[in-house]
Amino acid sequence: MRRVSVFGATGSIGESTFDLLSRRGDLQVVALTGGRNVARLAQQARALRAELAVTAYDDCLPALRDALAGSGVQAAAGTQALIDAADRPTDWVMSAIVGAAGLVPGVRALSQGATLALANKESLVTAGPLMMDCAARHGGRILPVDSEHSAVFQALTGEDIATVERVVITASGGPFRSWSRAELETASLEQAQVHPSWSMGQRITIDSASMFNKALELIETREFFGLDPAQIETVIHPQSIVHALVGFRDGAMMAHMGMPDMRHAIGYALNWPDRAALPVPRLDFVTLRQLDFEPPDPERFPALRIAREVMDMRGHAGAAFNAAKEVALDEFIAGRIGFLDMARLVDQTLERLMSDSGFTAPVQALETVQAMDQMARATAGELVSRMFNRS
Ligand code: NDP
Repeated sequence: MRRVSVFGATGSIGESTFDLLSRRGDLQVVALTGGRNVARLAQQARALRAELAVTAYDDCLPALRDALAGSGVQAAAGTQALIDAADRPTDWVMSAIVGAAGLVPGVRALSQGATLALANKESLVTAGPLMMDCAARHGGRILPVDSEHSAVFQALTGEDIATVERVVITASGGPFRSWSRAELETASLEQAQVHPSWSMGQRITIDSASMFNKALELIETREFFGLDPAQIETVIHPQSIVHALVGFRDGAMMAHMGMPDMRHAIGYALNWPDRAALPVPRLDFVTLRQLDFEPPDPERFPALRIAREVMDMRGHAGAAFNAAKEVALDEFIAGRIGFLDMARLVDQTLERLMSDSGFTAPVQALETVQAMDQMARATAGELVSRMFNRS
């Protein structure tokens, strides 16, 4: 029987994965992991008869044990337990932890030759060359789950990457698509965490509003498909129906379309190379009537400009960028900095760090990526106090 695990099972991607897994009787669930929502983690583990449930937090272990009492599901907690879970022999692993915390379990799963369904975009942004190399060396495989990258992957089936002229990834534009820069300065947390077309976790929803999400995706596209940054474009498409387009050297463009429902990309990765029936809503063009496209505005959304600079810098710029972005997001969520201050903080952190030769060195070792991540977090933390007058 095919063995599967889900890292980040209690999140938005995790719940969609759970929905698909719970419709199947032909899979053996090895491990499910979560963070603080141990009640839900235990429910999922019972329902799927998982071998193991892991919470990332040691202090959540007693509650997880209680919730699993009598179920036969093993309980574990902490960073090492997450790594041990990723080391358990498994055929297919969903990587859906949010943030840089998702990197190590993904690398471990690839190291044992598993297929990694990769939702955690931070993995490729911080350690793209290392992930790709790890998959190649150990016979593992990465299947993209981000909807845009799944779309590109699907449009490339049977094609030669050398014939690709351009890739266009779409962005909904988020809730602030038509806001002026002055209005964006005052955007609140409540306004930023409501997405017009996708239902997602809080962090990626805010990243979508600032377009840091699209910035991560630009870098992810470069890392996964090995394209030149100049070949990767972004276009605003408010309906979120076209997820990506691939343009070939003969001028043809292949578009991938679907209703905004992550179960499509997750299900594609779960069933690949087959296409199985999926419980996703179908497109109705008569109801839709119209699809709009407009250029992105890097003046109002500096994240896109920063992503281009990061791609040019190479080395550990991706790790520095992601860490600074995560600190900036924490600060915005805590109400300590404004919406556009997030980009200011990321800019300043990169400016400070990228003169350091450690950051420009090629990505080769996980430990170095983690050290660069920590250094960037410390620098961003220090800059917050200085830039925004906090003690
Ligand atoms: P959520 O915030 O909804 O879920 C995150 C998951 O990770 C939860 O299971 C959470 O546990 C767990 N978690 C949080 N912090 C840690 C930690 N430090 N260590 C281990 N586990 C942790 O996120 P999403 O599902 O929205 O996103 C997950 C990833 O997928 C992100 O990288 C995101 O960018 C990417 N993605 C998401 C999409 C979406 O539609 N949501 C689309 C494409 C990509 P708990 O909740 O129990 O605390």
